[in-house]
Amino acid sequence: VDTGPEVAVRRAIHAQGLRYRKNLVVPLAGRSVRPDIVFTRARLAVFVDGCFWHGCPDHASSPKANQAFWAEKLRRNRARDLADRTALEAAGWKVLRVWEHEDPRDAVARIQTVFAAAQPPSPPPASPDPARSRKT
Ligand SMILES: [Zn+2]
Repeated sequence: VDTGPEVAVRRAIHAQGLRYRKNLVVPLAGRSVRPDIVFTRARLAVFVDGCFWHGCPDHASSPKANQAFWAEKLRRNRARDLADRTALEAAGWKVLRVWEHEDPRDAVARIQTVFAAAQPPSPPPASPDPARSRKT
């Protein structure tokens, strides 16, 4: 299901010319993880998380009714989030979490920072330099 915050972040990513996959299942040892946005070549997984469902530190709230039910449900969500991210990182992925309250432009800026850090240094020229190899 495409939620509002996810769509906003995807649009902002697209506007920056970055190419991503959505709803791609990443098979890992023992579990499959489905990040909201995946950059396969950069091995970067992005989760866009709802403040309520994933326990945002700024906006987490506890429903008044059925407190035990909700406490357990939200606890399980957070435990699964942590397990997913830990599994991804163990497999060499980088993981970014974007909260639904975050400005999508800030999210994209963080994504671009990861990209910049992940770029390998430019390779040496592929063809030998004739001036260098020439014996004098
Ligand atoms: Zn929040």
